[in-house]
Amino acid sequence: MATIREHYNKKVCYFYDAAIGESYFGEKHPMKPFRIVMAHNLIMKYGLYKKMKIYRPYRASKEDMFNFHADDYVIFLKNINEGFISNEVKELTTRFSVGTKENDCPVFKGVFDLAQISSGGSLSAAANIVLGNADIAINWSGGLHHAKKAEARGFCYVNDIVLCILELLKFHKRVLYIDIDVHHGDGVEEAFFTTDRVMTVSFHRFGDEFFPGTGGFNDIGAGKGKYYSINVPLKAGLNDDDYEKIFIPVIIKVMEVYDPSVIVLQCGADSLAGDRLGDFNLTLKGHGRCVEFMRRYNIPLILLGGGGYTVKNVSRCWCYETAIALNTEIPDELPPNDFSRYFKPITKLHIKPEKVPNYNTPEYLDQCIEHVYETLRNIQSVPSVQFMDSPPLFMSPESVSRLSSIRTSTPDSVQSLSPNTVQSWSPGSVQSSPNSFQSSVNSNKSSIQADSVLEISSDEEDNTTDTISSDINSIQTTSTDSAIDSTIMTVSENEYYDDYF
Ligand SMILES: [Zn+2]
Repeated sequence: MATIREHYNKKVCYFYDAAIGESYFGEKHPMKPFRIVMAHNLIMKYGLYKKMKIYRPYRASKEDMFNFHADDYVIFLKNINEGFISNEVKELTTRFSVGTKENDCPVFKGVFDLAQISSGGSLSAAANIVLGNADIAINWSGGLHHAKKAEARGFCYVNDIVLCILELLKFHKRVLYIDIDVHHGDGVEEAFFTTDRVMTVSFHRFGDEFFPGTGGFNDIGAGKGKYYSINVPLKAGLNDDDYEKIFIPVIIKVMEVYDPSVIVLQCGADSLAGDRLGDFNLTLKGHGRCVEFMRRYNIPLILLGGGGYTVKNVSRCWCYETAIALNTEIPDELPPNDFSRYFKPITKLHIKPEKVPNYNTPEYLDQCIEHVYETLRNIQSVPSVQFMDSPPLFMSPESVSRLSSIRTSTPDSVQSLSPNTVQSWSPGSVQSSPNSFQSSVNSNKSSIQADSVLEISSDEEDNTTDTISSDINSIQTTSTDSAIDSTIMTVSENEYYDDYF
């Protein structure tokens, strides 16, 4: 049974690839992957890098994606990576919901690269948790919870969370997935809807045709997975106090009943006040309280990103939650950073709630809690799992050889990220495993290609700044040069920035 240890210092691994900032969905599109670059910059400027291991993650291969996604869908995504739809694949756009006028998942240059970075980060997080290299692993580029097996949805193309959980399931009996994005975590729920090995718990806005429209009280799983999908459908205007009132009792009961051995927390930041798409009213403190609460359990934890469309607040939030993972207090005054002018006139880390009505009455919140308790009452005892010989970790022999070539073929990017001090992460550094499958994990050590993860040393702050500056230039170039197809917008520098803030 899980125990709570409040002041326990944890090993934190953080995964970041600056190339995520080069992904550009289009001028009017609310999804801005550059928010991850801004969050990383704040994290560095607050000095949080001194307290954790920072790695550039492995990039997921299409074979890794095949573990969940349909082969033809993944190959289609790879084929449109240059940012245009050739005649050969044109008829597939409707089938896969990519690049059509009706949906929100455009074709853009680097769409597959984005999926590789996002998924590679979450797979690397899983591998480091399994190896005992981390108590908490963070990938803010991940959390793309809407992607389906053969369909892009809600700005998500490849579901890094499902891939991550599938990896964890090789070594963990029960995985708990918690989703605090303002939208229902439908893609993850659907993937594990019929199994009791994963419990999904989603707190989200529901009703009034709010996207994606699923996640009501009666959405509880099916077959063997019946009662293992938990949904908390909420109304507009939810504030910090009410979020805490519902999150904590629900999670305490879930932990008591399900007793997971690892937790994946999707920290979508579109549940914050003032989000461009969401209509909850949380501050960083209310959102971060969920991270803080989960951290207190003595159970390995993976933190992922997700939605979040008011870019400066997303970066504030994920920086703050990195500090929470590290059990570190950071000042409210933002440090000088590469994006200082975009935070003005507010130079503080924390945000204020908006003056909007909260439609979640105390009676309604009680009703939500009672629904969850009622569902959980159907679970008699924690499910048992028989383990056969442990399966290999995620990297195939092909991936391993490819990774070796990547590392030697990209000396420039490695050099710019961390000159002189790039170190390889080594499984030999594993001290202990947080789970009971240490022996089986160790037997697989040799199958992990440690060179796939590059460590940034703790004195790299200024160099990373340089990297980010050069990334901005490359983004502008990329955006301008990618006008291969009419679906790709060209933007000037000013439009680019105006669009962001
Ligand atoms: Zn969302």
